[in-house]
Amino acid sequence: MKVIAIASQKGGVGKSATAVNLSAYLAVKGKRVLLMDMDPQASATTHLGAGDGLESTTYELLMEDLPIPRLALPTEITGLDLAPSDKRLGRAEMELGATKGADRESMLKPKIRGNNTYDFIIIDTPPNLGFLTINAMVSADTVIVPIPTEFYGIKGLSMILDLSRAISEDLNRDLKLRYLLTMHDRRTKMGKEVITKVRELLEDDVFKVVIPRSVKLAEAPSYGKPICLIDPESPGARAYSQLADEVMV
Ligand code: ADP
Ligand code: MG
Repeated sequence: MKVIAIASQKGGVGKSATAVNLSAYLAVKGKRVLLMDMDPQASATTHLGAGDGLESTTYELLMEDLPIPRLALPTEITGLDLAPSDKRLGRAEMELGATKGADRESMLKPKIRGNNTYDFIIIDTPPNLGFLTINAMVSADTVIVPIPTEFYGIKGLSMILDLSRAISEDLNRDLKLRYLLTMHDRRTKMGKEVITKVRELLEDDVFKVVIPRSVKLAEAPSYGKPICLIDPESPGARAYSQLADEVMV
């Protein structure tokens, strides 16, 4: 079993889109996948058409020891289950903040590490480096950091890199950091420059595939479905399919 967290303290960079569409394609390609929503904003949960009247969420998993099979929901995609969240999970951030000791950083790990139902657990995280994100990073083998090719100067980029590296060095030395170029608009010069710079700096830690900026990907959440069920031939869908191939290597 492999655990992959999708993280960046920046919001709007494509974390949830990546969590949902990567999970979906891993399942389409035959893997058993759990998408775990660790963001109280629950974008991944609503992107998969869930979220109304949830009985159990990742809050109960994290704070009340509810086992994964009790909260995992099946999805429209065979092989893909969802561990949903809702705003209740916001309380966990506060409750962990009020707790003392190193335990609060490794609450999640024992709850998912013993699992052998899934080949992959993909964890979506909130746009900050609070306890929910830290717990996800401590539990993970790999963190994927999305980098949009459009609006960063190199300054914004180095901030992202410094923080994720600091977490991996302090809390989980076995953690592998991988970078995903997202929201790329081929027409802009800036986009090409960011790609060149990021590849120069991070070399093989950057996925080969670049996720294009795409209206189809932007609209997918409002259908409550991953892109593979909406328009599998679109460039955004092909890119996420290729990402799944790279992740499975
Ligand atoms: P995050 O989870 O990092 O906050 P999201 O995945 O929610 O980011 O993406 C932010 C917004 O951009 C959402 O409205 C989403 O639908 C849209 N989006 C994500 N990826 C793309 C893309 N490749 N092209 C166009 N829009 C995208
Ligand atoms: Mg998100």
